[in-house]
Amino acid sequence: MGSSVELNNGQKMPLLGLGCWQAPGDEVAAAVEAALLAGYRHIDTAYNYLNEDGVGRGIKAAVATGKVKRSDIFVVTKLPMIGMQAGKVEKYLRKSIKALGLDYVDLYLVHAPLGFAERSESDPFPMDNGKVVLDCSTDLISVWKDMEKMVSLGLAKSIGVSNFTDKQVLKIVSNAKIPPAVHQVECHVYFQQLKMREVCKKYNIAITAYAPLASPGRKVLYEKRGVKIELPDLLNNPVVRLVAEKHKRTAAQVLLRFLVQQDIIVIPKSTNAGRIKQNGDIFSFKLDELDMEALRFLNQGEAGRSFTMLSFPGVERHPECPF
Ligand code: NAP
Repeated sequence: MGSSVELNNGQKMPLLGLGCWQAPGDEVAAAVEAALLAGYRHIDTAYNYLNEDGVGRGIKAAVATGKVKRSDIFVVTKLPMIGMQAGKVEKYLRKSIKALGLDYVDLYLVHAPLGFAERSESDPFPMDNGKVVLDCSTDLISVWKDMEKMVSLGLAKSIGVSNFTDKQVLKIVSNAKIPPAVHQVECHVYFQQLKMREVCKKYNIAITAYAPLASPGRKVLYEKRGVKIELPDLLNNPVVRLVAEKHKRTAAQVLLRFLVQQDIIVIPKSTNAGRIKQNGDIFSFKLDELDMEALRFLNQGEAGRSFTMLSFPGVERHPECPF
C-alpha cells in the first residue's frame, strides 16, 4: 500500500504506518492484524505505550495467514525516558524486541530527549505528588552512542530520534558515527514544522508525522490526569472539509494525503477496522496545487503545536525539555 521513502542508510520505510498509542493489548493486536491484512507495512509503537506484546500478537497473527512476511513489515519502537542513560539502551531494546516476539526492529527511536527516574521497569512515567520524577543527568551524546551499538548488534536496522529540538538534532548529527535516519515529531496542517523539516532535509533525515490528525482521542486521557486542554479539531476545519468534498474523500484522508504528498511519513492511529482501511486509502488520489496551497495556509507555526508534554507536570524542569 502506497510508497516508501529511502532513508539515509538505504533502508526503505513505508510512508504509511499504523500508530498504536492509547490502544491496549487485545485491541491493538486486532488493529495491527487488520492493518497488515489491509496492506499497511509499517507499525509504530513504543515501550512507553505498554502494548508491545499486543502489537507482537497482531504481527504474529497476520504473518500466520501467509499473506504477509515479517521481512516486509517495518516495525518501529522507542526507548523510554526511564532508559535514557548509557548502559540501559540495550536492556530496554531487548525487552521491546522480546515483547514484540521479534528478532530485531526496523527502527529504534529515542522517544524524547529527557530522562525520568527508573524506579521500576514497568513504570515509564514515575510520578510523585503529581509531578514526574526526573533524571536530570541526561547526556544525549552518550545515549546516542549506545543507540549506535544497537545497529552493530543487529537489534535495530535504523536508529532515530523523536521530540528533539533542532539544536538537539544538530548536536547528535555533529557527534554521530551513524546519523539519525528519522525524526518523529508532531506534524499536521496546524503545525507543519517548516523549520524542523529544513534542518532534517539538510541532513537527509526523514520526518515521521505523529498525531497527523492532531490526536483527537487524547481528551479522555488528559482529563484522567486532571489536565484541561483545548484540542484542535482538524477533522472539522472548513478548508479541510471543502478539499475533502471536492475529492469525494474524508477529512482524515485529506489531512494524511497532504503530508505523504510531501514525503512526510504518517502514522495515524485507529483501532476501528473501517477507519484503518479509510486511512490507508490515500494513495489513489492526488491534491492539486490549489488544494496544497490552501492547506499550507492553515499552518499556525509554533502556535499550532498541541503536544507539549506539559500534561506531565514537572517535565519543564528538565534541562533538555524540548517544549
Ligand atoms: P492521530 O493518529 O492524529 O489520531 C488518532 C485519533 O483519531 C484516534 O482517537 C482515532 O480514533 C481517531 N481517528 C483515526 N482515524 C480517524 C478517521 N479516519 N476519522 C476520524 N477519526 C479518526 O493521533 P495519535 O494517535 O496521537 O498519533 C498517531 C501515532 O503517533 C500514535 O498512535 C503513536 O504511534 C505516535 N505518537 C508518537 C508520539 C511521540 O512522542 N513520538 C506522540 C504521539 C503519538 P479510533 O481509534 O477510534 O479510530
